[in-house]
Amino acid sequence: MHVPLLDLKAQLHPLRDEILAALTEVLDSTRYIMGPRLEELEEAVAAYAGARHGIGVASGTDALLVALMALGVGRDDLVLTTPYTFFATMGGVLRLGARPVFVDIDPVTYNIDPQRLAETMAAYAKAGKRFKAMIPVHLYGQCADMGAVLALAEQYGVPVVEDAAQAIGAVYPAQVSGVRQWRPAGSMGVAGCFSFFPSKNLGGLGDSGMVVTSDTELARRMRQLRMHGMEPKYHHSMVGGNFRMDPLQAAPLLVKLPHLPAWHQARRRNAARYNSLFAAAGLVGGDRITLPAAVYEELARRERAEPDFHIYNQYVIRTRERDGLKAFLDQAGVGNEIYYPIPLHQQECIAEFGYGALAFPEAERAARETLALPVYPELTEEMQQYVVDRVRAYFS
Ligand SMILES: *Cc1c(COP(=O)(O)O)cnc(C)c1O
Repeated sequence: MHVPLLDLKAQLHPLRDEILAALTEVLDSTRYIMGPRLEELEEAVAAYAGARHGIGVASGTDALLVALMALGVGRDDLVLTTPYTFFATMGGVLRLGARPVFVDIDPVTYNIDPQRLAETMAAYAKAGKRFKAMIPVHLYGQCADMGAVLALAEQYGVPVVEDAAQAIGAVYPAQVSGVRQWRPAGSMGVAGCFSFFPSKNLGGLGDSGMVVTSDTELARRMRQLRMHGMEPKYHHSMVGGNFRMDPLQAAPLLVKLPHLPAWHQARRRNAARYNSLFAAAGLVGGDRITLPAAVYEELARRERAEPDFHIYNQYVIRTRERDGLKAFLDQAGVGNEIYYPIPLHQQECIAEFGYGALAFPEAERAARETLALPVYPELTEEMQQYVVDRVRAYFS
């Protein structure tokens, strides 16, 4: 048996005709820049993400960049984030001449550790240094501990840009004036950034992304920045870029968006199935594997019917024997991937700034020990059984 990490054909097949019709409509309209399909998608995604405005851009990377530009992040500014994420989280910071300040992750969720965040912010405040922005990442499809993050952001007056590239539709159990509200990823900071890269839960036919915000002035600035800072035509009061999303990307995403909640549910079902199969196989705990922790699951179950507390963009296990297991699964035809093998502070492109001398033990351990397994919605029980069998074969 061969089980791919992701099989986009299974998702495409039932939607193919509808997607073709949507693409044909854009093709025949000859309106290839901006236009009604893009606006429709911006409204739909903003509504889905609990924000007032959506600004379609060319990628998740550009979503982060445009948000930081609109907040005025520039040369020598400091921006807080974690070292255990995809490069794009810090790429925008560096391109603007600003510097990332890393905070280690929580080893259970792989998201920013609020305790360490508090310590870092206090230490910098004591030294008289301010942060221009903060980028918590909702890694693998589960929200960072935003209650704690937002409290610290407010205490120190730092705007929060959520890197929700892997978490569109995921919700966080916020406590608002003593009442629980499940708040969507991207709606909690001043801006939330999504990616429609094909492997994300809402994947396009190439690159695109979106920033959402409920701040009307910030939305206006981001719209202007994505068109070379131009407003009105040929008047440039700021320097932006060409960050637009094509309507040819928006059209198929509009077809897919209504299916997203069902796909999230299928991924959650698959994750739960892995959890029981791995437990039944006696692989959990001890020196073998650690399953992904869905930290809001228990609360979700207690409080109401299943909100999308985790959308499982990735199902990531942890084991000290990661490299051996990976080689074994490669041989056995089980798709897998290491997200991410090199923490950001150890990347060559920032070596000159001395980040390599810093230690972020949990990010470094995660980079050595984690492995993503197939969890896409159309995965069958038989395929999951095969994956678990192969993992068991490795450990015996
Ligand atoms: C995918 C991703 C991005 C970048 O999105 P692109 O659309 O590929 O540019 C940023 N941050 C994280 C955490 C991601 O997973």
